[in-house]
Amino acid sequence: TLSDRLADTFKNLRGKGRLSEADIDATAREIRIALLEADVALPVVREFVAAVKERARGEEVSQALNPAQQVVKIVNDELVSILGGETRRLRYAKTGPTVIMLAGLQGAGKTTLAAKLALWLKEQGKSPLLVACDLQRPNAVNQLQVNGERVGVPVFAPEPGNGVGDPVGVARRSIDEAKRTLHDVVIIDTAGRLGVDAEMMKQAVDIRDATQPDEVLFVVDAMIGQDAVTTAQAFLDGVGYDGVVLTKLDGDARGGAALSIVSLTGKPVIFASNGEKMTDFDLFHPDRMAGRILDMGDMLTLIEQAEKAFDAEESAAAAAKVASGDFTLDDFLQQMQQLRKLGSMSKLMGMLPGMGQFREQLANFDDREIDRIQAIIQSMTPAERANPKIIDGSRRSRIARGAGRAVSDVNQLIERFTEAAKMMRQLASGGGMPGMPGAPG
Ligand code: GDP
Ligand code: MG
Repeated sequence: TLSDRLADTFKNLRGKGRLSEADIDATAREIRIALLEADVALPVVREFVAAVKERARGEEVSQALNPAQQVVKIVNDELVSILGGETRRLRYAKTGPTVIMLAGLQGAGKTTLAAKLALWLKEQGKSPLLVACDLQRPNAVNQLQVNGERVGVPVFAPEPGNGVGDPVGVARRSIDEAKRTLHDVVIIDTAGRLGVDAEMMKQAVDIRDATQPDEVLFVVDAMIGQDAVTTAQAFLDGVGYDGVVLTKLDGDARGGAALSIVSLTGKPVIFASNGEKMTDFDLFHPDRMAGRILDMGDMLTLIEQAEKAFDAEESAAAAAKVASGDFTLDDFLQQMQQLRKLGSMSKLMGMLPGMGQFREQLANFDDREIDRIQAIIQSMTPAERANPKIIDGSRRSRIARGAGRAVSDVNQLIERFTEAAKMMRQLASGGGMPGMPGAPG
Protein backbone atom coordinates (compact mmCIF):
# COMPACT_ATOMS: atom_id res chain seq x y z
CA THR A 1 0.00 0.00 0.00
CA LEU A 2 0.96 3.62 -0.29
CA SER A 3 1.57 3.96 3.42
CA ASP A 4 3.96 0.97 3.45
CA ARG A 5 5.87 2.33 0.50
CA LEU A 6 6.11 5.78 1.98
CA ALA A 7 7.32 4.29 5.23
CA ASP A 8 10.11 2.67 3.18
CA THR A 9 10.92 5.91 1.44
CA PHE A 10 11.28 7.66 4.75
CA LYS A 11 12.94 4.95 6.76
CA ASN A 12 16.14 6.97 7.08
CA LEU A 13 14.24 10.07 7.98
CA ARG A 14 12.73 9.08 11.28
CA GLY A 15 13.53 11.63 13.94
CA LYS A 16 14.99 14.03 11.42
CA GLY A 17 11.49 15.20 10.71
CA ARG A 18 11.97 17.60 7.83
CA LEU A 19 11.11 16.87 4.22
CA SER A 20 13.88 17.65 1.77
CA GLU A 21 13.32 18.24 -1.93
CA ALA A 22 14.63 14.72 -2.63
CA ASP A 23 12.24 13.23 -0.08
CA ILE A 24 9.35 15.07 -1.67
CA ASP A 25 10.30 13.80 -5.13
CA ALA A 26 10.54 10.22 -3.90
CA THR A 27 7.17 10.64 -2.24
CA ALA A 28 5.62 12.04 -5.38
CA ARG A 29 6.75 8.94 -7.29
CA GLU A 30 5.02 6.65 -4.78
CA ILE A 31 1.81 8.66 -4.84
CA ARG A 32 1.83 8.60 -8.64
CA ILE A 33 2.14 4.79 -8.68
CA ALA A 34 -0.60 4.39 -6.08
CA LEU A 35 -3.00 6.55 -8.08
CA LEU A 36 -2.26 4.83 -11.37
CA GLU A 37 -2.86 1.48 -9.66
CA ALA A 38 -6.22 2.81 -8.53
CA ASP A 39 -7.02 3.55 -12.19
CA VAL A 40 -6.92 7.31 -11.96
CA ALA A 41 -6.52 8.94 -15.38
CA LEU A 42 -2.98 10.12 -16.15
CA PRO A 43 -3.64 13.87 -16.53
CA VAL A 44 -5.49 13.81 -13.22
CA VAL A 45 -2.59 11.97 -11.58
CA ARG A 46 -0.16 14.60 -12.82
CA GLU A 47 -2.21 17.48 -11.56
CA PHE A 48 -2.85 15.84 -8.24
CA VAL A 49 0.77 14.92 -7.59
CA ALA A 50 1.84 18.47 -8.39
CA ALA A 51 -0.67 19.83 -5.90
CA VAL A 52 0.50 17.46 -3.19
CA LYS A 53 4.16 18.32 -3.80
CA GLU A 54 3.33 21.97 -3.47
CA ARG A 55 1.56 21.42 -0.20
CA ALA A 56 4.25 19.13 1.20
CA ARG A 57 6.78 21.88 0.54
CA GLY A 58 4.77 24.56 2.26
CA GLU A 59 3.67 22.42 5.17
CA GLU A 60 4.96 23.00 8.64
CA VAL A 61 6.62 19.79 9.71
CA SER A 62 4.44 18.00 12.18
CA GLN A 63 5.93 16.89 15.45
CA ALA A 64 3.16 14.42 16.06
CA LEU A 65 3.60 12.36 12.90
CA ASN A 66 6.49 10.71 11.18
CA PRO A 67 7.11 12.00 7.65
CA ALA A 68 5.35 9.08 5.96
CA GLN A 69 2.26 9.62 8.06
CA GLN A 70 2.38 13.31 7.43
CA VAL A 71 2.51 12.87 3.66
CA VAL A 72 -0.32 10.34 3.74
CA LYS A 73 -2.33 12.87 5.67
CA ILE A 74 -1.64 15.58 3.11
CA VAL A 75 -2.55 13.23 0.26
CA ASN A 76 -5.70 12.19 2.02
CA ASP A 77 -6.80 15.73 2.85
CA GLU A 78 -6.20 16.78 -0.73
CA LEU A 79 -8.17 13.81 -2.06
CA VAL A 80 -11.09 14.44 0.24
CA SER A 81 -11.20 18.07 -0.72
CA ILE A 82 -11.16 17.32 -4.46
CA LEU A 83 -13.77 14.60 -4.05
CA GLY A 84 -16.05 17.18 -2.59
CA GLY A 85 -15.33 17.71 1.08
CA GLU A 86 -18.82 17.26 2.35
CA THR A 87 -21.48 15.33 0.54
CA ARG A 88 -23.55 17.34 -1.90
CA ARG A 89 -27.27 17.05 -1.22
CA LEU A 90 -29.96 16.45 -3.79
CA ARG A 91 -31.71 19.60 -4.99
CA TYR A 92 -35.47 19.54 -4.71
CA ALA A 93 -37.83 21.64 -6.80
CA LYS A 94 -39.37 24.65 -5.02
CA THR A 95 -42.74 23.97 -6.54
CA GLY A 96 -44.18 20.91 -8.25
CA PRO A 97 -42.55 17.52 -8.37
CA THR A 98 -38.76 17.28 -8.32
CA VAL A 99 -37.59 15.66 -11.55
CA ILE A 100 -34.52 13.45 -11.48
CA MET A 101 -33.30 12.06 -14.76
CA LEU A 102 -30.77 9.24 -15.01
CA ALA A 103 -28.34 8.97 -17.90
CA GLY A 104 -25.50 6.58 -18.65
CA LEU A 105 -24.35 3.61 -20.67
CA GLN A 106 -26.25 0.36 -20.84
CA GLY A 107 -25.29 -1.83 -17.90
CA ALA A 108 -24.13 1.13 -15.81
CA GLY A 109 -26.80 0.33 -13.26
CA LYS A 110 -29.44 2.99 -14.01
CA THR A 111 -32.53 0.80 -13.67
CA THR A 112 -31.25 -0.74 -10.45
CA LEU A 113 -30.30 2.66 -9.15
CA ALA A 114 -33.68 4.17 -10.01
CA ALA A 115 -35.36 1.77 -7.59
CA LYS A 116 -32.67 2.16 -4.92
CA LEU A 117 -33.01 5.92 -5.10
CA ALA A 118 -36.79 5.62 -4.91
CA LEU A 119 -36.50 3.52 -1.75
CA TRP A 120 -34.03 5.98 -0.22
CA LEU A 121 -36.33 8.91 -1.02
CA LYS A 122 -39.27 7.06 0.47
CA GLU A 123 -37.28 6.68 3.66
CA GLN A 124 -36.72 10.45 3.61
CA GLY A 125 -40.48 10.90 3.63
CA LYS A 126 -40.83 11.54 -0.10
CA SER A 127 -43.36 9.96 -2.42
CA PRO A 128 -41.49 9.02 -5.59
CA LEU A 129 -42.78 7.87 -8.95
CA LEU A 130 -40.58 5.74 -11.22
CA VAL A 131 -40.79 6.38 -14.95
CA ALA A 132 -39.80 3.80 -17.56
CA CYS A 133 -38.29 5.61 -20.52
CA ASP A 134 -35.95 2.86 -21.68
CA LEU A 135 -38.07 1.53 -24.51
CA GLN A 136 -35.05 0.25 -26.36
CA ARG A 137 -34.44 -3.04 -24.67
CA PRO A 138 -37.32 -5.51 -24.74
CA ASN A 139 -37.18 -6.30 -21.05
CA ALA A 140 -36.27 -2.88 -19.68
CA VAL A 141 -39.78 -1.75 -18.68
CA ASN A 142 -40.46 -5.04 -16.98
CA GLN A 143 -37.16 -4.85 -15.09
CA LEU A 144 -38.11 -1.45 -13.69
CA GLN A 145 -41.54 -2.73 -12.74
CA VAL A 146 -40.06 -5.68 -10.87
CA ASN A 147 -37.64 -3.37 -9.04
CA GLY A 148 -40.43 -0.89 -8.32
CA GLU A 149 -42.46 -3.64 -6.74
CA ARG A 150 -39.53 -4.68 -4.59
CA VAL A 151 -39.34 -1.21 -3.07
CA GLY A 152 -43.06 -0.51 -3.11
CA VAL A 153 -42.92 2.39 -5.53
CA PRO A 154 -45.28 2.70 -8.52
CA VAL A 155 -43.93 2.74 -12.06
CA PHE A 156 -45.28 4.92 -14.85
CA ALA A 157 -44.83 2.97 -18.09
CA PRO A 158 -46.19 3.08 -21.61
CA GLU A 159 -49.11 0.81 -22.36
CA PRO A 160 -49.90 -0.93 -25.62
CA GLY A 161 -51.41 1.73 -27.86
CA ASN A 162 -50.16 4.52 -25.63
CA GLY A 163 -46.57 5.68 -25.67
CA VAL A 164 -44.87 2.48 -26.79
CA GLY A 165 -41.77 3.57 -28.68
CA ASP A 166 -42.15 7.19 -27.56
CA PRO A 167 -39.89 7.69 -24.54
CA VAL A 168 -40.10 11.49 -24.76
CA GLY A 169 -43.91 11.39 -24.64
CA VAL A 170 -43.84 9.01 -21.68
CA ALA A 171 -41.42 11.27 -19.83
CA ARG A 172 -43.57 14.35 -20.49
CA ARG A 173 -46.80 12.69 -19.41
CA SER A 174 -45.19 11.28 -16.28
CA ILE A 175 -44.90 14.77 -14.80
CA ASP A 176 -48.65 15.38 -15.17
CA GLU A 177 -49.27 11.93 -13.75
CA ALA A 178 -47.09 12.75 -10.73
CA LYS A 179 -48.99 15.99 -10.12
CA ARG A 180 -52.31 14.23 -10.47
CA THR A 181 -51.37 11.39 -8.10
CA LEU A 182 -49.47 13.63 -5.67
CA HIS A 183 -46.00 12.22 -6.11
CA ASP A 184 -43.33 14.75 -5.20
CA VAL A 185 -40.33 13.17 -6.93
CA VAL A 186 -40.19 11.75 -10.45
CA ILE A 187 -37.29 9.44 -11.30
CA ILE A 188 -36.81 8.95 -15.02
CA ASP A 189 -34.95 5.83 -16.14
CA THR A 190 -33.56 6.16 -19.66
CA ALA A 191 -32.03 3.94 -22.31
CA GLY A 192 -28.30 3.47 -22.73
CA ARG A 193 -26.07 1.87 -25.34
CA LEU A 194 -22.96 -0.16 -24.83
CA GLY A 195 -21.01 2.71 -26.31
CA VAL A 196 -21.74 6.37 -26.66
CA ASP A 197 -23.82 7.02 -29.79
CA ALA A 198 -25.51 10.03 -31.31
CA GLU A 199 -29.03 8.61 -31.38
CA MET A 200 -29.01 7.70 -27.72
CA MET A 201 -27.60 11.10 -26.86
CA LYS A 202 -30.33 12.84 -28.85
CA GLN A 203 -33.04 10.83 -27.10
CA ALA A 204 -31.58 11.78 -23.72
CA VAL A 205 -31.47 15.44 -24.74
CA ASP A 206 -35.11 15.30 -25.91
CA ILE A 207 -36.22 13.75 -22.62
CA ARG A 208 -34.25 16.38 -20.74
CA ASP A 209 -35.82 19.22 -22.72
CA ALA A 210 -39.31 17.80 -22.31
CA THR A 211 -39.04 17.40 -18.53
CA GLN A 212 -36.62 20.14 -17.41
CA PRO A 213 -35.10 17.99 -14.66
CA ASP A 214 -33.97 19.50 -11.36
CA GLU A 215 -31.14 16.99 -11.38
CA VAL A 216 -29.65 15.05 -14.27
CA LEU A 217 -27.54 12.30 -12.73
CA PHE A 218 -24.84 10.56 -14.73
CA VAL A 219 -24.69 6.92 -13.62
CA VAL A 220 -21.35 5.21 -14.11
CA ASP A 221 -19.93 1.80 -13.32
CA ALA A 222 -16.87 2.22 -11.08
CA MET A 223 -15.40 -0.96 -12.58
CA ILE A 224 -14.83 0.52 -16.02
CA GLY A 225 -11.75 2.33 -14.72
CA GLN A 226 -9.95 4.47 -17.26
CA ASP A 227 -12.92 4.41 -19.69
CA ALA A 228 -15.01 6.27 -17.15
CA VAL A 229 -13.33 9.52 -18.12
CA THR A 230 -14.19 9.44 -21.83
CA THR A 231 -17.74 8.32 -21.10
CA ALA A 232 -18.20 11.01 -18.47
CA GLN A 233 -16.93 13.63 -20.87
CA ALA A 234 -19.15 12.40 -23.72
CA PHE A 235 -22.27 12.60 -21.54
CA LEU A 236 -21.25 15.98 -20.23
CA ASP A 237 -20.93 17.33 -23.77
CA GLY A 238 -23.95 15.40 -25.06
CA VAL A 239 -26.61 15.77 -22.35
CA GLY A 240 -24.96 17.62 -19.50
CA TYR A 241 -25.49 16.60 -15.89
CA ASP A 242 -25.45 18.02 -12.38
CA GLY A 243 -24.10 15.11 -10.44
CA VAL A 244 -22.62 11.65 -10.69
CA VAL A 245 -23.61 8.29 -9.23
CA LEU A 246 -20.94 5.61 -8.93
CA THR A 247 -22.22 2.05 -9.07
CA LYS A 248 -20.79 -1.41 -8.39
CA LEU A 249 -18.56 -0.17 -5.63
CA ASP A 250 -19.02 -3.59 -4.04
CA GLY A 251 -16.59 -4.85 -6.69
CA ASP A 252 -12.86 -4.60 -6.28
CA ALA A 253 -12.47 -1.37 -8.24
CA ARG A 254 -10.30 1.00 -6.27
CA GLY A 255 -12.39 4.00 -7.18
CA GLY A 256 -9.93 5.97 -9.28
CA ALA A 257 -12.85 6.70 -11.61
CA ALA A 258 -14.35 8.93 -8.94
CA LEU A 259 -11.26 11.11 -8.75
CA SER A 260 -10.87 11.26 -12.54
CA ILE A 261 -14.47 12.22 -13.20
CA VAL A 262 -14.69 14.83 -10.48
CA SER A 263 -11.36 16.37 -11.48
CA LEU A 264 -12.11 16.51 -15.17
CA THR A 265 -15.78 17.45 -15.14
CA GLY A 266 -16.00 19.43 -11.90
CA LYS A 267 -19.28 17.63 -11.16
CA PRO A 268 -19.80 16.16 -7.70
CA VAL A 269 -20.46 12.51 -6.96
CA ILE A 270 -23.71 12.45 -5.02
CA PHE A 271 -24.55 8.79 -4.49
CA ALA A 272 -22.73 5.49 -4.27
CA SER A 273 -24.29 2.17 -5.20
CA ASN A 274 -22.64 -0.93 -3.85
CA GLY A 275 -24.54 -4.13 -4.42
CA GLU A 276 -27.53 -5.86 -5.90
CA LYS A 277 -29.80 -5.41 -2.89
CA MET A 278 -32.12 -2.41 -2.92
CA THR A 279 -30.56 -1.11 0.29
CA ASP A 280 -27.00 -1.25 -1.11
CA PHE A 281 -27.01 2.48 -1.64
CA ASP A 282 -25.81 5.54 0.22
CA LEU A 283 -24.83 9.15 -0.10
CA PHE A 284 -21.29 9.41 -1.44
CA HIS A 285 -18.69 9.90 1.30
CA PRO A 286 -15.49 11.56 0.03
CA ASP A 287 -13.46 10.45 3.05
CA ARG A 288 -14.32 6.79 2.53
CA MET A 289 -13.54 7.03 -1.16
CA ALA A 290 -10.19 8.68 -0.45
CA GLY A 291 -9.28 5.79 1.83
CA ARG A 292 -10.28 3.33 -0.85
CA ILE A 293 -8.31 5.03 -3.61
CA LEU A 294 -5.16 5.04 -1.52
CA ASP A 295 -5.90 1.67 0.04
CA MET A 296 -4.82 3.02 3.38
CA GLY A 297 -6.68 0.71 5.69
CA ASP A 298 -6.28 1.86 9.24
CA MET A 299 -3.50 4.32 8.49
CA LEU A 300 -5.73 7.33 8.92
CA THR A 301 -7.09 6.15 12.23
CA LEU A 302 -3.51 5.68 13.40
CA ILE A 303 -2.66 9.18 12.27
CA GLU A 304 -5.57 10.62 14.16
CA GLN A 305 -4.60 8.74 17.28
CA ALA A 306 -0.97 9.82 17.00
CA GLU A 307 -2.02 13.45 16.74
CA LYS A 308 -4.30 13.19 19.73
CA ALA A 309 -1.71 11.40 21.84
CA PHE A 310 0.85 14.03 20.91
CA ASP A 311 -1.42 16.85 22.06
CA ALA A 312 -1.99 15.11 25.37
CA GLU A 313 1.76 14.58 25.83
CA GLU A 314 2.41 18.23 25.07
CA SER A 315 -0.03 19.45 27.67
CA ALA A 316 1.34 17.08 30.29
CA ALA A 317 4.91 18.18 29.57
CA ALA A 318 3.93 21.83 29.78
CA ALA A 319 2.19 21.27 33.10
CA ALA A 320 5.28 19.51 34.47
CA LYS A 321 7.52 22.36 33.39
CA VAL A 322 5.26 24.87 35.00
CA ALA A 323 5.31 22.93 38.23
CA SER A 324 9.11 22.90 38.27
CA GLY A 325 9.26 26.58 37.35
CA ASP A 326 11.20 25.64 34.25
CA PHE A 327 9.11 27.56 31.74
CA THR A 328 10.78 28.88 28.57
CA LEU A 329 9.77 31.10 25.69
CA ASP A 330 9.39 27.96 23.59
CA ASP A 331 6.80 26.70 26.03
CA PHE A 332 5.17 30.09 25.95
CA LEU A 333 4.88 29.93 22.17
CA GLN A 334 3.54 26.41 22.32
CA GLN A 335 0.89 27.43 24.78
CA MET A 336 -0.09 30.28 22.50
CA GLN A 337 -0.47 27.85 19.65
CA GLN A 338 -2.53 25.49 21.77
CA LEU A 339 -4.68 28.43 22.67
CA ARG A 340 -5.17 29.20 19.01
CA LYS A 341 -6.33 25.64 18.42
CA LEU A 342 -8.73 26.10 21.28
CA GLY A 343 -9.83 29.39 19.78
CA SER A 344 -10.96 27.72 16.61
CA MET A 345 -12.81 25.28 18.80
CA SER A 346 -14.30 27.98 20.92
CA LYS A 347 -17.72 27.81 19.39
CA LEU A 348 -17.89 24.10 19.95
CA MET A 349 -16.55 24.43 23.47
CA GLY A 350 -19.03 27.12 24.31
CA MET A 351 -21.69 24.50 23.86
CA LEU A 352 -20.10 22.12 26.35
CA PRO A 353 -21.24 22.31 29.93
CA GLY A 354 -18.59 23.93 32.12
CA MET A 355 -16.65 25.43 29.21
CA GLY A 356 -18.86 28.48 28.92
CA GLN A 357 -16.57 30.31 31.36
CA PHE A 358 -13.77 30.32 28.76
CA ARG A 359 -15.94 31.58 25.97
CA GLU A 360 -15.14 35.24 26.43
CA GLN A 361 -11.42 34.62 26.82
CA LEU A 362 -11.35 32.58 23.64
CA ALA A 363 -13.46 35.00 21.68
CA ASN A 364 -11.02 37.82 22.46
CA PHE A 365 -8.15 35.80 21.17
CA ASP A 366 -6.54 37.24 18.09
CA ASP A 367 -4.86 34.96 15.56
CA ARG A 368 -2.64 37.69 14.19
CA GLU A 369 -1.32 38.39 17.65
CA ILE A 370 -0.09 34.82 17.85
CA ASP A 371 1.54 35.15 14.45
CA ARG A 372 3.41 38.21 15.69
CA ILE A 373 4.49 36.47 18.88
CA GLN A 374 5.57 33.46 16.88
CA ALA A 375 7.64 35.56 14.49
CA ILE A 376 9.45 37.23 17.37
CA ILE A 377 10.15 34.03 19.32
CA GLN A 378 11.33 32.28 16.19
CA SER A 379 13.85 35.05 15.60
CA MET A 380 15.50 34.19 18.89
CA THR A 381 18.31 31.69 19.30
CA PRO A 382 17.62 28.54 21.35
CA ALA A 383 19.73 29.95 24.17
CA GLU A 384 17.68 33.14 24.22
CA ARG A 385 14.45 31.21 24.28
CA ALA A 386 15.62 29.05 27.16
CA ASN A 387 16.90 31.99 29.16
CA PRO A 388 15.35 35.33 28.19
CA LYS A 389 17.46 37.10 30.85
CA ILE A 390 20.37 37.16 28.39
CA ILE A 391 18.40 39.18 25.84
CA ASP A 392 20.07 42.56 26.08
CA GLY A 393 19.56 45.67 23.98
CA SER A 394 21.57 44.58 20.95
CA ARG A 395 19.91 41.16 20.95
CA ARG A 396 16.53 42.87 21.13
CA SER A 397 17.16 44.97 18.05
CA ARG A 398 18.51 41.92 16.18
CA ILE A 399 15.40 39.92 17.09
CA ALA A 400 13.11 42.79 16.08
CA ARG A 401 14.83 43.06 12.70
CA GLY A 402 14.55 39.32 12.14
CA ALA A 403 10.86 39.30 12.96
CA GLY A 404 10.09 42.47 11.07
CA ARG A 405 8.74 44.09 14.26
CA ALA A 406 9.60 47.12 16.36
CA VAL A 407 11.95 46.75 19.31
CA SER A 408 9.08 47.84 21.54
CA ASP A 409 7.15 44.75 20.41
CA VAL A 410 10.03 42.57 21.52
CA ASN A 411 10.19 44.36 24.85
CA GLN A 412 6.49 43.91 25.36
CA LEU A 413 6.63 40.22 24.58
CA ILE A 414 9.49 39.60 27.01
CA GLU A 415 7.64 41.53 29.71
CA ARG A 416 4.52 39.59 29.12
CA PHE A 417 6.42 36.33 29.21
CA THR A 418 8.20 37.23 32.44
CA GLU A 419 4.92 38.06 34.06
CA ALA A 420 3.31 34.87 32.83
CA ALA A 421 6.24 32.79 34.08
CA LYS A 422 6.05 34.44 37.47
CA MET A 423 2.34 33.88 37.65
CA MET A 424 2.75 30.25 36.75
CA ARG A 425 5.40 29.70 39.40
CA GLN A 426 3.05 31.17 41.96
CA LEU A 427 0.17 29.06 40.78
CA ALA A 428 2.37 25.98 40.78
CA SER A 429 3.67 26.54 44.30
CA GLY A 430 0.19 27.40 45.51
CA GLY A 431 -1.07 24.13 44.05
CA GLY A 432 -3.48 25.94 41.74
CA MET A 433 -4.37 24.90 38.25
CA PRO A 434 -1.97 26.11 35.58
CA GLY A 435 -3.99 28.63 33.65
CA MET A 436 -3.64 30.02 30.20
CA PRO A 437 -0.75 32.40 30.55
CA GLY A 438 -0.45 35.71 28.89
CA ALA A 439 -3.52 35.59 26.69
CA PRO A 440 -3.41 38.99 25.04
CA GLY A 441 -6.46 41.15 25.12
P1 GDP B 1 -28.75 -0.15 -16.79
O1 GDP B 1 -28.55 -0.81 -18.09
O2 GDP B 1 -27.92 1.09 -16.67
O3 GDP B 1 -30.16 0.11 -16.46
O4 GDP B 1 -28.15 -1.14 -15.67
P2 GDP B 1 -28.93 -2.17 -14.74
O5 GDP B 1 -29.59 -1.45 -13.62
O6 GDP B 1 -29.80 -3.04 -15.57
O7 GDP B 1 -27.71 -2.99 -14.16
C1 GDP B 1 -26.89 -3.80 -14.95
C2 GDP B 1 -26.40 -4.97 -14.10
O8 GDP B 1 -25.57 -4.51 -13.04
C3 GDP B 1 -27.53 -5.74 -13.44
O9 GDP B 1 -27.22 -7.11 -13.47
C4 GDP B 1 -27.54 -5.23 -12.02
O10 GDP B 1 -28.02 -6.18 -11.12
C5 GDP B 1 -26.08 -4.96 -11.80
N1 GDP B 1 -25.87 -3.89 -10.83
C6 GDP B 1 -26.38 -2.65 -10.79
N2 GDP B 1 -25.90 -1.94 -9.75
C7 GDP B 1 -25.02 -2.76 -9.11
C8 GDP B 1 -24.18 -2.61 -7.96
O11 GDP B 1 -24.11 -1.58 -7.31
N3 GDP B 1 -23.42 -3.69 -7.62
C9 GDP B 1 -23.46 -4.85 -8.34
N4 GDP B 1 -22.68 -5.85 -7.92
N5 GDP B 1 -24.22 -5.01 -9.41
C10 GDP B 1 -25.00 -4.00 -9.81
MG1 MG C 1 -31.80 -0.02 -17.60
